[in-house]
Amino acid sequence: MLTAIVGINWGDEGKGRMVDLLSEKYDIVCRYQGGNNAGHTVVNERGRFILNLLPSGILRDSTVNVMGPGMVIDVEHLFNEVARLREGGISITPDHLKISHMATICMPYHKLLDCLEEDRLADKKFGSTRRGIAPVYSDKYMKKTIRMGDLLHPEYMKEKIADIVEWKNLTVEGGYKHAPISADEMIKWLETYAMPFKDYVCNTTEFLGDASNAGKKIMFEAQLGALRDIDFGIYPYTSSSSVIAAYAPIGAGIPYIKLDESIGIIKAYSSCVGEGPFTCELFGADGDKLREAGGEYGAATGRPRRVGGFDVVASRYGTMVQGATCLALTKLDILSYLEKIPVCVAYEVNGVRTDRFPTGKDLDIATPVYEYFDGWMSDVSGCRSFDELPENAQRYIKYIEEQMNCPIKYISVGPEREQYIEM
Ligand code: GDP
Repeated sequence: MLTAIVGINWGDEGKGRMVDLLSEKYDIVCRYQGGNNAGHTVVNERGRFILNLLPSGILRDSTVNVMGPGMVIDVEHLFNEVARLREGGISITPDHLKISHMATICMPYHKLLDCLEEDRLADKKFGSTRRGIAPVYSDKYMKKTIRMGDLLHPEYMKEKIADIVEWKNLTVEGGYKHAPISADEMIKWLETYAMPFKDYVCNTTEFLGDASNAGKKIMFEAQLGALRDIDFGIYPYTSSSSVIAAYAPIGAGIPYIKLDESIGIIKAYSSCVGEGPFTCELFGADGDKLREAGGEYGAATGRPRRVGGFDVVASRYGTMVQGATCLALTKLDILSYLEKIPVCVAYEVNGVRTDRFPTGKDLDIATPVYEYFDGWMSDVSGCRSFDELPENAQRYIKYIEEQMNCPIKYISVGPEREQYIEM
């Protein structure tokens, strides 16, 4: 069984929680894109863990976790993330965590460049997380990066760093007039934070290929959601990687496999971190209440998220580009306080109603068409079957299922592992 778990919306749909739940059925969990620019929060019997880089299967001793070639890894962040988990009693060994020799290292100068550029943009900023993600992916395509496999050849790595730093300083010093990067400091940084992972680096393409030939169950875990995809999302307010399920086999390093399943994680309302068009956005007291109820503050950055009602137009588009074979609806319990549940059922662009997700300028000027569903005004966090849910909650779920034209297989009614309904 080869399954991708992907986000349908703008990210923060609760993918970490669903991966943690479903990973039990899988032998391997693999991250295939992105870096530490987003976070998963997973709550289980061992505690509450924030994962930015590590695959969510890391919390289960029996699951092997792979960080694929499509990832960009800030090894200092990884070093600290691993240390925090170990403090929480999670064991992390090379048997349990495998890092692709083709994965790219996100260096301190990537973060620096991210900050310098975001500062230069001032009020035109993109809302970057300043974690170096856009600069490191740019360098990947410029073919001027250090890969995890270079750690196995320290002398070669040092030569490479010297060349890259010389090139980078043309921008850092020459362009941004910032103090130059020192190659020696970069080497020291790599020795401190990357070298400890030397024994975790391997040919994960061979590992995953053998595993899939042997019939092992592999889960591919995405970060962010469809609307943040570099190609299909709300460009340029997107991430810098491909987050879609179709990219999972590539980013994981086994481009020749075909997915059996794409599980789309879809939230019962909308949230969006940072800048960019967010048509369904709710403002004022309505927005504030929903943000508070949902605890919508970034796991990686602590930034308050923008919130809105469920967005039919954007979610249907997300479901389509993810090729979702089924959906997991999360955070249904958050809506319990609402007498009337706002749903963005269509957009208006230049006075014309549409249910197609627009791009570019049309998206910027789109306005939401809101309708209101009767709420259920009762705690659903204890429900463990569809029948136990209040009628209005059932109606809401069926409506979403119909509009997405995709079966809802799971409904999450709380952050804890067991707080869900399987249809
Ligand atoms: P991810 O990046 O998609 O995993 O999303 P985040 O981790 O940023 O956000 C999900 C947050 O919502 C976490 O704090 C989860 O513990 C929590 N969460 C996930 N599913 C549910 C749910 O069904 N109900 C509630 N109340 N919280 C949930």
